[in-house]
Amino acid sequence: MRTAKGRFGIHGGQFIPETLMNAVIELETAYEYYRNDGGFNRELNTLLNAYANRPSGLYYAEKLTRALGGAKIYLKREDLNHTGSHKINNVLGQALLAKKMGKTRLIAETGAGQHGVACATAAALMDMDCVVFMGEEDTRRQALNVYRMRLLGATVIPVTSGTATLKDAVSEAMREWTSRIDDTHYCLGSVMGPHPFPTIVRDFQAVISREIKSQLLEREGRLPDVVIACVGGGSNAIGSFYHFIDDKTVRLIGCEAAGRGIDSLETAATINTGREGIFHGMKSYFCQDEYGQIAPVYSISAGLDYPGIGPEHAYLHDLGRAEYVPVTDEEAVNAFEFLSKTEGIIPAIESAHAVAHAIKIAPEMSRDRMIVITLSGRGDKDCAAIARYRGEDIHE
Ligand SMILES: *Cc1c(COP(=O)(O)O)cnc(C)c1O
Repeated sequence: MRTAKGRFGIHGGQFIPETLMNAVIELETAYEYYRNDGGFNRELNTLLNAYANRPSGLYYAEKLTRALGGAKIYLKREDLNHTGSHKINNVLGQALLAKKMGKTRLIAETGAGQHGVACATAAALMDMDCVVFMGEEDTRRQALNVYRMRLLGATVIPVTSGTATLKDAVSEAMREWTSRIDDTHYCLGSVMGPHPFPTIVRDFQAVISREIKSQLLEREGRLPDVVIACVGGGSNAIGSFYHFIDDKTVRLIGCEAAGRGIDSLETAATINTGREGIFHGMKSYFCQDEYGQIAPVYSISAGLDYPGIGPEHAYLHDLGRAEYVPVTDEEAVNAFEFLSKTEGIIPAIESAHAVAHAIKIAPEMSRDRMIVITLSGRGDKDCAAIARYRGEDIHE
């Protein structure tokens, strides 16, 4: 779906300072070489299979299907990957690429801490230094993940600028990369930022839809009718959609975090409430205030709490190829509890946004239809916050 030089329709591009140009050109050149290199791909596949536990299962959720009384529901189990989410797919790819480029140091941004933990993990495995930028507010909300990163040997730097959350961590990591590109690779965590990141991260996450397609063809002999995934920056969603984009019968649905509702100011639903703009090196849709400043965003889910969306999603939205629907905190929490009780699977609160939308549409579909929901991660990390949401303090 890529048009000229990292553009997706009018979106994407490279809106970066002169000082970063060399770094992105070096990265693009290396990626163009290694993406077609047999040795690189074999090494990455071995890591994904032996270390990250791929292929992840495609599980027929029979009890959920019966409870909803409509379409047959499959769950793509990215929650069973090493480190507990889809983030590891991208991180192993980028860390291996960085290593081939002769880099010895990984830097990363993180919100909830899942991407930071995945980076710290890959750095430990590959003997690299790792520095993770994390909004100070998030270091407090996600103290356990800060400990995990430090345990894995990474340095965590709390970012105090702006709202001290994910967008500020991205800005700080970009600043750091500008000042130190010789030995450092910026391991970006989603399909965002300047070209070539949206393409690189998409390619490393596309393993999700490649597996869904072959697993479902083997089980059911046909393609799904609907694929549903949650959207923060959009990496697990584009990974889930990618190999179905040309299959026009497959509906692709991205679930945005509506927070307290798209009519409130406490939301992170970018396509549903945002406007076109330029931020973090790319043109896309962003939540903005009346003056075009990036608006503060809110969601119960720290992993979806980002004011933008990857440029390829913005393009799929413009084309009408994918739909982007808002899901509130309350709907996501209900789905978190419902999936736990019906299937014995506790999803990440991010992934619960996708489950919530399936709960809305499955009953209206006939029983010969099929939905695949990507469970982007597991929910252990969220239990204390959801308990708090329900008015219970479990002293994490
Ligand atoms: C980070 C994260 C997300 C959001 O990121 P995307 O790039 O939109 O996939 C979703 N789910 C989980 C479990 C995450 O850790």
